[in-house]
Amino acid sequence: MQHVTCPGCGAQVDFRSPASVMAVCEYCKTTVLKDADSVKDLGKMSEVLEDYSPIQIGTTGVFDGRGFAVVGRIQLRYPDGFWNEWYILFDDAQAGWLADASGQFTLTFEKPELAAPGDFAQLRPGVNLNLGGEVYCASDVRTARCTAGQGELPFRVGPGWQAQVADFRSGARFLTLDYSDAGSPKAYVGRAVGLGELKAQLLRDSGDIGDTVGRFRGKVGRLACPSCGGEVSYSPGMTSHFICPSCHAEVDVSSSTAVVLSAARTLAAAPFTLTLGKTATIDGAPYTLLGALRRAETGQSASSWSEYLLYAPGRSFIWLIETEEGWQRAEVLNSWPTWPEPERVVLDGRTFRRFATYTAQVTYALGSFNWRVAVGETAQVAEFQDRQETLAAEATAEELTWSRSRPLAVDQVRAWFGEEIHEEQHQHPSYLRSARWIVIALVLINAIPLVLATRSVLLYLIVATVAIYLPAFILDKMGGNSP
Ligand SMILES: [Zn+2]
Ligand SMILES: [Zn+2]
Repeated sequence: MQHVTCPGCGAQVDFRSPASVMAVCEYCKTTVLKDADSVKDLGKMSEVLEDYSPIQIGTTGVFDGRGFAVVGRIQLRYPDGFWNEWYILFDDAQAGWLADASGQFTLTFEKPELAAPGDFAQLRPGVNLNLGGEVYCASDVRTARCTAGQGELPFRVGPGWQAQVADFRSGARFLTLDYSDAGSPKAYVGRAVGLGELKAQLLRDSGDIGDTVGRFRGKVGRLACPSCGGEVSYSPGMTSHFICPSCHAEVDVSSSTAVVLSAARTLAAAPFTLTLGKTATIDGAPYTLLGALRRAETGQSASSWSEYLLYAPGRSFIWLIETEEGWQRAEVLNSWPTWPEPERVVLDGRTFRRFATYTAQVTYALGSFNWRVAVGETAQVAEFQDRQETLAAEATAEELTWSRSRPLAVDQVRAWFGEEIHEEQHQHPSYLRSARWIVIALVLINAIPLVLATRSVLLYLIVATVAIYLPAFILDKMGGNSP
């Protein structure tokens, strides 16, 4: 370890990693550059935002049998959210990065030997890339801004520094290409990890935070809307934005101060079956309903559905989806399926076949979410099915996600939430239901001649029934209604 004296305040600044080129003084935030044994003052670094991450400088863990400690971090922000890159140092002096993006962790190492393609502008989510004998699929392609740094870091960063990064996945494997510097991108390779599997120690706990107790990440708290004072359930550090259920103001809650992004608006009431803020015990954990979305398929079809975001401390997000066909439970996958051909994907040895491709648009949103939801926001969706299970790939201009969903009995939803849940929530009346009434009337009108039972009346009745039912059935199918 190398110690230098902070030119700003005289405190001791440590360089634990030989690869570090700069450090931020813990006391006065002066950026200290370790350049050929001379120490330079590069000015003050912005304070890191309180984002309630459980990780801190000094957190230790074990990865593939080797111990590491967290020695630095940079915070990166993009228009829809933010993430932390923690700089970690292993006992054998190798350095790595532990990325923390709303509770999804990945651990990577720089691989200078990998020659990645040079054009960031060519990359899109969903694009395949063959690198080092592995076929990866692009999951995120973003330009982000470094907002703050802390501890020691292997390159010079300052506020306003722009990062152009693309993330790729292949099963649980993870690749980041960093195009921030001119020339060929830096490649970082690793995999998706959980804090439990890293045996992480010296994590922050709510007791360390003092005045922010109750806003510790992972807890579900309530926040007063800065626009109207109404209460909103959210999870600090996990949900970054909310749309107030009372006044519909859009609020950024990714930092310690809630910032109103758009003022109160009057919106039509959304037909949500479940109530925001309600808690249900699911798989033994208390899940709180944080956000509700209404989405619709674009195009001629009138089909629309609701999606509910639920979160429990220490668990992953769950989505409950309510369609005209019934309920589904979905989870975002941290380990991706492989996509060997356009019509088929493989996950855990099972083959799922494509059965639907459409564009989904957000038509209404309330509550808190882990990204900045906007009405009108669209995603390209491809669904793949194997028996009762569905895998869905959703792509926007910046990211691709995979989720897995299974059917959920309406009785189960009722048992969890105990709400008035309607069996059928049709957007327009069912033609088949109208046809059914016409047929019943017809049978009643014909009941008297039927008693006399001539063959021709019965035949007319059957022909009339088919003639009324068939178009209704076709109309319902076209309109996406289920009988
Ligand atoms: Zn200092
Ligand atoms: Zn409000």
